Amino acid sequence: MAVDPCAKCEEVLQPYLDRELSDAEMMEAEAHLELCSYCRKRYRFEVNLRRYVRQAAAEEMPPQLKEKLSALRTPLL
Ligand SMILES: [Zn+2]
Repeated sequence: MAVDPCAKCEEVLQPYLDRELSDAEMMEAEAHLELCSYCRKRYRFEVNLRRYVRQAAAEEMPPQLKEKLSALRTPLL
């Protein structure tokens, strides 16, 4: 039985963003993101989320941003 490429993509998403993957795994993930708008959307969401989290860590998070963040998060839960 073939591995679902989207399940695989989800599995490597975090290490991908942390740049913990091997070159081969990185290329595989990128190739899939090219083809799959669903994973691309998820990937972009994670990138934005990480940016917000980094900002929040650097400074006090304004209440509007917190709201925006939870609004972004809702569809995935
Ligand atoms: Zn996918």
